[in-house]
Amino acid sequence: MKRLTLLLLFSSAVVVQAQPKIAWPHHKKALIVLTYDDALNSQLDVAVPQLDSAHLTATFFLIGDITSQTTSRWRALSKKGYELANHTVYHPCISTNDNPTASENYTVFTILREIGSMNMLLNAVDGKTTRTYAYPCTETSVGGKYYVDSLRKSGLIKYARIGGDGNAIITDFKNLDPLLVPSYGLEGKNTADELIAFVKKVEQSGGMGVFMFHGVGGDYITTPAEAHKKLLGYLDKNRKDIWVTTFQQAMDYVTQANKTK
Ligand SMILES: [Zn+2]
Repeated sequence: MKRLTLLLLFSSAVVVQAQPKIAWPHHKKALIVLTYDDALNSQLDVAVPQLDSAHLTATFFLIGDITSQTTSRWRALSKKGYELANHTVYHPCISTNDNPTASENYTVFTILREIGSMNMLLNAVDGKTTRTYAYPCTETSVGGKYYVDSLRKSGLIKYARIGGDGNAIITDFKNLDPLLVPSYGLEGKNTADELIAFVKKVEQSGGMGVFMFHGVGGDYITTPAEAHKKLLGYLDKNRKDIWVTTFQQAMDYVTQANKTK
């Protein structure tokens, strides 16, 4: 019995060693990805100027209601290295009062067709041909049907983000499904301390953390402008240790690192 326990201890130690932590570029200790959903004006008016002055980049999951006034602003962001990404055209979710497009009426075919249309719209804005995706309302089903595997087979999307909470820290890169990448979905009114505490936890883990913002200093599910600014200040000050990049670049790196291991 004792022998067996020792053997088990030994084999679990081997398993731990077989999964070394990922090595980030330039000896950085962690990776943070900033993502912003729903193409909101407060992102253009508040979040982007703060990102620019902190010299940080980010990913914007856009929907189809970009307007003649905002299209040129989103295009300009792409030229500066920000990522424009796909969040569908009409944002279908299980119907509630504030969500007019009911995903109950969708099929796997219609959601994939809509994601394809949004890819075309984004291509007309920035000329890019590979896209990442965020599931509207973090729902991976439409009309009662799980569509992640169909989305994978369609080849429309390279990587996709789901939801999660402040514990959504990615460390097991071997078993990370590139179409189900968890994120810290902020619920609004978060303090700078809460946001920075998440970054510190990611630093301690040596892994990757993805923020999901909506409004910044306006619109809805709003992160206060001051809290957002302090978070960016922390990321800027610690850029020697923390890599901040777009969702697509982050997942490209992780995918490549898995292949070469
Ligand atoms: Zn959304």
